[in-house]
Amino acid sequence: MRSMSERETWVLASHNAGKIKELTAILAPFGIALKSAAELDLPEPEETESSFEGNAALKAKAACEATGLVCLADDSGLAVDALDGAPGIYSARWAGEPRDFQRAMQRVQDELGDSADRTARFVCVIALARPDGSVAHYRGEVVGEIVWPPRGDGGFGYDPVFQPQGETRSFSQMTPEEKRALSHRGRALDAMIRAEFKA
Ligand code: IMP
Repeated sequence: MRSMSERETWVLASHNAGKIKELTAILAPFGIALKSAAELDLPEPEETESSFEGNAALKAKAACEATGLVCLADDSGLAVDALDGAPGIYSARWAGEPRDFQRAMQRVQDELGDSADRTARFVCVIALARPDGSVAHYRGEVVGEIVWPPRGDGGFGYDPVFQPQGETRSFSQMTPEEKRALSHRGRALDAMIRAEFKA
């Protein structure tokens, strides 16, 4: 682990205040000071790639080229097996503009119809771009099933209809700590921390 005198600044290529707060606390013990894309006034590039890896890399590389610093970005979504992985990278877009996740969850339920297979997974890919042009990817997944009707009022996005395997509650019915311990984002972060800090 780096000593505090060797503090390094990384950039999180996101304008999401919740993600920044959470990641700042997670990276501080490893000697990383985090700056956000909003703080540095970086534009949000359009997500034009066709995979979580591609979109995460596109965001991290754009921020790295603009700042010359190590930059990380994530891309995540819900992939439903019986829908060939949809909504996948289109998870946010299924909620329309302005975002309405009741509508997005209803669409998942409608498209599943009476399908016996309700298996789904949340996926998160973190890309870490360095000024030398290298990009590392870390993927985390959590498998579960789509439950209906939606349950609970915590969390965000598709949380009310996602019940992780072996659990009796949806992500929405868990505390943030319980969700972090199981979630795709938590697992991708753990993979990054293990690889980058040998922790
Ligand atoms: P992004 O990675 O910030 O672009 O988020 C993609 C979309 O995936 C979000 O807007 C949510 O719809 C969905 N999503 C990603 N992670 C979660 C989660 O932990 N719970 C619920 N929905 C999620």
